[in-house]
Amino acid sequence: MELQAVVDEIVHEVQPMLGEGAVASYIPSLGQVPAGNFGMCVAMSDGPVCGAGQWQDPFSIQSISKVFSLALVMSYDYDSIWKRVFREPSGTPFNSMLQLEADNGIPRNPFINAGALVVTDRLLTLTGDAAGSVRGLLRKESGNPAIDFDDEVAASEAQHGHRNYAMAHLLASYGNLENPVELVLENYFKQCSLRMSCEDLAAASRFLARHGVSAGGTPFLSPNQSKRINAVMLTCGTYDAAGEFAYRVGLPGKSGVGGGIVAIVPGRCAVTVWGPALGPNGNSVAGIAALDAFTTRTGWSIF
Ligand code: GLN
Repeated sequence: MELQAVVDEIVHEVQPMLGEGAVASYIPSLGQVPAGNFGMCVAMSDGPVCGAGQWQDPFSIQSISKVFSLALVMSYDYDSIWKRVFREPSGTPFNSMLQLEADNGIPRNPFINAGALVVTDRLLTLTGDAAGSVRGLLRKESGNPAIDFDDEVAASEAQHGHRNYAMAHLLASYGNLENPVELVLENYFKQCSLRMSCEDLAAASRFLARHGVSAGGTPFLSPNQSKRINAVMLTCGTYDAAGEFAYRVGLPGKSGVGGGIVAIVPGRCAVTVWGPALGPNGNSVAGIAALDAFTTRTGWSIF
């Protein structure tokens, strides 16, 4: 069956599921997004793209931005970040601080919030503008110069971001931040507020399906770095549901509380889905179902 037909069918099939779960409301301006939206896009590593539903509507990428900040840090400075953050699944929610104190201020992985704050801090030191460099990478790789921050979402998160403030201060108390807490958080909230469509995100993530080769055809990451980021996405990208995600979808993936998920089929394509209603682990309910259907139908899982 043609890929476009597969995507059309899946988007049709998940429609009854769009009422399941709940739109994230702890960031109040995210809570206003209607749960009935759904989009899906597949960007093949050699160019062709297909999509269905609201695949061209922008949404808040939230934690999906953590993949790109990590990729940038690794591109500048391959290994040193791993002295400051582990790469083990946490088995706890994305915003948990439980293990941070037990582990002397070293977060379990770069995709839980504590780890992402450390990565943003490193990127800030390396570039002087962490959020701006994530935006620059996403614009360049997607080919869409209009990608931008959503100032309202960033402000809304800052106003209600008590856990992230607490986490950043705890990291700083262990000496695991190089920059002022306020500056790290400002950059983190901004990178999370970036608005992109499934189409933009699939194109921008394609370098992970092309063993690190950027949209322009030059290496952005080495094949090894690309492999390692995919590995961390597989084991940690969907937090305390990473085991379930590997079981159902069988791909490296990264979710965000805006309802987006990026999944990578190494060597073949990047797949993105967006459905704002989330399950208990903060991942899109319909999005996971769509990716499950996608790998089941195409056989394109890594297993
Ligand atoms: N900005 C969100 C937060 O820090 C990102 C969380 C997510 O998408 N899982 O809480």
